[in-house]
Amino acid sequence: MTIDNFNFAGKKAIVRVDFNVPLDENGHITDDTRIRGALPTLKKILADGGALIIMSHMGKPKGKVNPKMSLAQIKDAVAAALGCNVTFAPDCAKAAEAAAALPCGEALLLENLRFYPEEEGKPVGIDKADPAYDEAKKAMKASQKEFAKTLASYADVYVNDAFGTAHRKHASTAVIADYFDADHKMLGYLMEKEVKAVDNVLSDIKRPFTAIMGGSKVSTKIGIIENLMDKVDNLILCGGMTYTFAKAQGGHIGLSICEDDKLDLALEIIAKAKAKGVNLVLGTDCVAADSFSNDANTQVVPAGAIPDGWEGLDAGPETRKLFANAIKDAKTILWNGPAGVFEFDNFTAGSRAIADAIVEATRNGAFSLVGGGDSVACVNKFGLADQVSYVSTGGGALLEAIEGKVLPGIAAIRGDK
Ligand code: AMP
Repeated sequence: MTIDNFNFAGKKAIVRVDFNVPLDENGHITDDTRIRGALPTLKKILADGGALIIMSHMGKPKGKVNPKMSLAQIKDAVAAALGCNVTFAPDCAKAAEAAAALPCGEALLLENLRFYPEEEGKPVGIDKADPAYDEAKKAMKASQKEFAKTLASYADVYVNDAFGTAHRKHASTAVIADYFDADHKMLGYLMEKEVKAVDNVLSDIKRPFTAIMGGSKVSTKIGIIENLMDKVDNLILCGGMTYTFAKAQGGHIGLSICEDDKLDLALEIIAKAKAKGVNLVLGTDCVAADSFSNDANTQVVPAGAIPDGWEGLDAGPETRKLFANAIKDAKTILWNGPAGVFEFDNFTAGSRAIADAIVEATRNGAFSLVGGGDSVACVNKFGLADQVSYVSTGGGALLEAIEGKVLPGIAAIRGDK
């Protein structure tokens, strides 16, 4: 079932959203992006004449009640955003009465799901090495099912709009879907958009396709690099990874960040790209600094000839041109991870050059997906988020999706487990 094809009139919908919003020390929301992200789905259900049961996690309470992570703190903000009455259920596993009494056109906000260990389904207070662990895990999986069944009993239909947790097989993100038939479970609009964006870069590819992978380490990106190798025309590897590649090729990298146990892997990636005809673009020059700070002295040097005591913190001018050239004529673009220590204003040039080239290509008709943590912070810092095709809301979930993994939250709805 799709959300557009479902009429919620007279129905109770239980919707998993990601309202894991940052709060200040007084419990006030400092960034409401995630609440705004779920509004199209929530408003469609209300506008149809349905009743909303909203569930989310907040933070990592590890299966225990923690008032600092109570969703009661955001109830008023949710009511203001929805423009309807919102009641609060202080115990998400004991909300049957409140759900039954909920009138159409109104919402019930359940307390933080992760106050219950059943949400994540991991046994608490027992070490993995303990011989009783397997038994405890089995018991927890059984109570996770019961917990999911209880949540499901509140509603006629289940909607999952929490892309940020779609890579988790939790009670509210996946297990609950077993208690609804195919006509009564669906993805929300935000999830649909994320799935479509991933599809655009993994299946429905317009060429040339340029992927830009940055960040600090090769090791955390290797799954993605391998999956993309079969799909891309140009692969830019930048950021801290640059120096593992430079060293692997015999370069001198000074104090630059490097994974010494990944030198062979770097050479394998270079060989694989060659074998597959992928244009691998690595930094040739860099902005080296004499300390890891914004005010460090700098010099532009070859990425493989960094003086002792210096470290590469950003892409150099020649590299920035190489990157821009591989991006600006692309028709599909994926960007994950900055090209330098963009948190320091003096080392943003590489990431800025990438962002500008993506914006130019997007203007010329490319589909551009930016996602996975720091590159999102980058486009936000440059004020360019509205000039790319799609900025993903899911960090880990997006990375797993572009690694080619099936996300449990999506599989549970589509039935392709
Ligand atoms: P990741 O979480 O792996 O995507 O890495 C993002 C982080 O990589 C950011 O905090 C950047 O500051 C950092 N980074 C990017 N380039 C470099 C570099 N040349 N040296 C050290 N850290 C870097």
